[in-house]
Parts: sequence; structure tokens; C-alpha cells
Amino acid sequence: MSTFPARAVVDLSAVRANARTLGDLAPTAQLMAVVKADAYGHGLLPVARAAVEGGAAWLGVAQVGEALALRAGGITARVLAWLYAPGAPLAEAVAADVDLSVAAPWALDEVAAAARATGRTARIHVKVDTGLGRNGIPPADLPALLDAALRLEAEGAVRLVGLWSHLAFADEPGHPSLHAQADALHAAVADAEARGARLEVRHIAASASTLTDPALHLDLVRPGIALYGLTPVPQLGGPERFGLVPAMTVEAELATVKRLPAGHGVSYGHHYVTAQDTTVGVVPLGYADGVPRHASGVDGLPGAPLGVAGRRLAIAGRVCMDQVVVDLGPDATEVAGDRVVLFGTGADGGPTAQDWADAAGTISYEIVTRLGARVPRVYVDGGRAVSGAARVAEEVR
Ligand SMILES: *Cc1c(COP(=O)(O)O)cnc(C)c1O
Repeated sequence: MSTFPARAVVDLSAVRANARTLGDLAPTAQLMAVVKADAYGHGLLPVARAAVEGGAAWLGVAQVGEALALRAGGITARVLAWLYAPGAPLAEAVAADVDLSVAAPWALDEVAAAARATGRTARIHVKVDTGLGRNGIPPADLPALLDAALRLEAEGAVRLVGLWSHLAFADEPGHPSLHAQADALHAAVADAEARGARLEVRHIAASASTLTDPALHLDLVRPGIALYGLTPVPQLGGPERFGLVPAMTVEAELATVKRLPAGHGVSYGHHYVTAQDTTVGVVPLGYADGVPRHASGVDGLPGAPLGVAGRRLAIAGRVCMDQVVVDLGPDATEVAGDRVVLFGTGADGGPTAQDWADAAGTISYEIVTRLGARVPRVYVDGGRAVSGAARVAEEVR
């Protein structure tokens, strides 16, 4: 038995199929699979490889360190890193052929210095703040940054590959700001080209616009959450609506199963009290593992759902650091060691990451990305165990 009584089983065939589906949805654009934050908790390198197999020509990450980890893992696809502070290891990134976003004059200076230090040309994508009000150069400051970038291009220090932006309301398809932001990016592109830029890619769409608005696909789309089979627009329906399959199933073995009498408090603060003589089970995952404490079953409301032998139950009482309790009911036949599914594909009515997000008042992104480092990731490929993970996957089935 593996030493930890729970795991996230990641189906790489689902990642591969989702990448293909996203590529088919945006046939005129290149596909950048976003694998930041340890591939949204699914594991950077296995997911990156599967995404490339599924047709992603590009991988997107926030941090430079994440880009370097992809290269160290032997990934040769184009990689873009877009979030760094002064002093980041940009020379290493340029030497590793990582494309870098530039959103401020200091960043252009540091990229140029990195290029000179390595003797290579740095590939840059200038990020424009077309309205999000987060990262990106304000349009008023763009002309000076473009001129500086094009002077460096003439010297051979940089190559201005792309102009890009990010949307504020992509999860509200049809919101008027979406096309206003795209128009602002198009205006920036026209300005850049008038100044002599020869861009390879213009991009603005993450998952939501990849799924819902072809007019925003431009030359390249950057889906993250959809690659993992989750939807950024749950109000339009589940992942199956877009042909996506959730890649991660989080499951555990019941650690303790025992009888409790009616009227017995459960977990810290006794926020759940048994209504009858019943059987409870201890699930060995808690907030240290990413189970949101907001998913507790308190104040008479059920906590986040748990799938137990085809039944849909719920967390009873407070989520603790390492464990939660489930009321298995008076007629339970479960024993210690039986399997509990926290969330998975949702096939057969089982709980999903979206159900967990709803229960915790958050979005599915947060449910998967906050899964704790303590929880082992086990890889399967369409039900087959992946080598290396084979032994543990075999043992837990
Ligand atoms: C995270 C991120 C994405 C991917 O977003 P999803 O909504 O997960 O598809 C794309 N672009 C940028 C700039 C991001 O930060």
C-alpha cells in the first residue's frame, strides 16, 4: 500500500483529448496549453507532455522558474513565461529559448541585458493592458515601449514576436468589454506594425473565450482550466457541453469507520450532530491537503459532497487539518479501507470539482490548484497505469 491513504489520479488521456478538443474548437489559432501552478495542481511535466501530444505547440506559465522546469524536463515546445519581478533569472530563460512577456520598460531593459549576457536574441511578447487593470503596459506608455523594443530588435538583442492581452470578463460571454478589449489590442497591433513590428502572434483568449467566442481566438489561444476538463463558464453547463473530460479524481481510503449514537457531536465545535444512531467514517484529507475549510458541513447545511460506493454523501461538521468525517448512515456496510471519491469526472453522478467549488463558495480553479503537496499524484492513461506510477496505481485499484 502506498504510505498516504489518498491520492489525485490524473488521467493523461483526458488531458490529451481535451487539448485536441480545444485545438479543434480554435482551428485557425495555435494552441498554448497553460500549465502554470504545477499544471493547476495536476503535475507540470506529465501534463505538459500530454498537452504537447494533444497538439499544443506552446506551453504557457506564469513564473520563469516554471518555464525552466519545463526545459529541465526535456520539453522542447515553445514556452512563454509572463510574470516576473526585477532580478528574475532572465538570462537562464533566454539561454533556454523561453519566450518572455514584457509589460514595463524595466522588464525590456532586463530582457535586453539577459540577451546580451547570453549572446542570444530574446523572444518577447509585449503585454498590453487593454482594460483588465492588472499586468500589462498601459496603452499611453505603449508607443515608447514599442520603439525601444524595435531599436533592440534592430540590434539583434530582442525579437518582438507577439502582442498580447488578457480579458477582465471572459467568464461572462457576450460582455461588451470583451470586444472593446480586443479592439484595443488590434489598435495596438496596428500601431506596432506601423512602427515596423513584424509580429508572429497576437493573443487574448484564455479558456472561456476559446470555448465561447471564435472572434477572440486571433493567432493563438491560451486555455488553462479547460485543458484539465473543467469549465470557466459553469453557468453554460458542465464540461461535457464542450466535449471536455475532467482529468483529476481525488480519492481516499476511509481510515476509521465506527458507530455513533443519536445526538453525538461530530468534529471540532460539534457543528454536526447525528440525527440517529449511525455509522461515521473518517476521510484522511483535510485543509492541509487543500480541502477548503469553507466546505465544512455546519449550521445544518451539508458540506462538500463525497462519493461512497455510488452514494452521494457530504462532509459532516468542520473540515480539520488532516481529515473530515462523513455520516455513512444507519445501514452503512462500509469498512475501514473502503474508497471515497472527493471529486472526479462526474460520470455516474459522482461529485465534481465544480460541486466542490459551489460548496466552498469558490471556483473550480481554486479546488484543483490548492490540492496539497502531500497528496500523491498518480498518473493513468485511459485507465492504464503509467510506468513509474504503475505499482501504486495497481495497488489502489
Ligand atoms: C492563467 C492564465 C490563462 C489561462 O486561464 P484559464 O482561464 O485557466 O484558461 C491564460 N492567460 C493568462 C495571462 C493567464 O494568467
